[in-house]
Amino acid sequence: MLPDVSELQLLFALLNNQHFGGEIPAHRIAYNGRFSNLAGRIVYKPPLIELSRKHFEKHPDALRETLLHEMIHAWLHARGENAGHGAAFKRKMRELGLRSVYHDLGSVVPRKESPRRFILRCDRCTMELLRKRRPPAKVSCGRCSPRRFDARYPLRVLEVVETRELAEGRAAQRLPR
Ligand SMILES: [Zn+2]
Ligand SMILES: [Zn+2]
Repeated sequence: MLPDVSELQLLFALLNNQHFGGEIPAHRIAYNGRFSNLAGRIVYKPPLIELSRKHFEKHPDALRETLLHEMIHAWLHARGENAGHGAAFKRKMRELGLRSVYHDLGSVVPRKESPRRFILRCDRCTMELLRKRRPPAKVSCGRCSPRRFDARYPLRVLEVVETRELAEGRAAQRLPR
C-alpha cells in the first residue's frame, strides 16, 4: 500500500528535520496519475514534488529514496546553490547513503539535465505543455478554449527543476557515475 498524501507530507517533514536541518521550505507532495514515463519531478515555483503513483505501486521500496533525491534538489535550491547533479549534490547523496543518481534501483534515470523548464497546466482538462522559455503572462488552454483567450481556463505555469524518466524496458544502461 502506498502512503497517502498526508503520510507523504509527514515523511517529508521527518526527512527534512533528520537530514536537512529543517532547511527545506514546505513543499506540497502529490501523486500524479498521468505520469507514464516519469517516476517523479520537482517544481520549485510553486514548491511541489510529484511522484508517479503507477511507478511506486510497483516499486514501493524506491519511494523514500526518490523523495530524498528530490529533496536534495530542493535543499540546494533553497540555499542558493547549484541545484543540479553537481559536486554539492553528490556530496549530500553520499552523506545520506544514496547510490549514484543514475542507478536508483536500476529503474530510474534522470532525464538529460535541463536546469530550467516550464510546464503549462490546465487544471480543468489536466493538459500539460512543456516550454523552454517562460510563457507570456496570460495564456489559456487551447483545448478548453480553442479559438481565443478565455480567462476561465488559465494555464498555470510551473517551473521545473527536474523530471525523472523511467528506463524500464530499455536495454540496461551503463552510465558514468
Ligand atoms: Zn535529480
Ligand atoms: Zn484545458
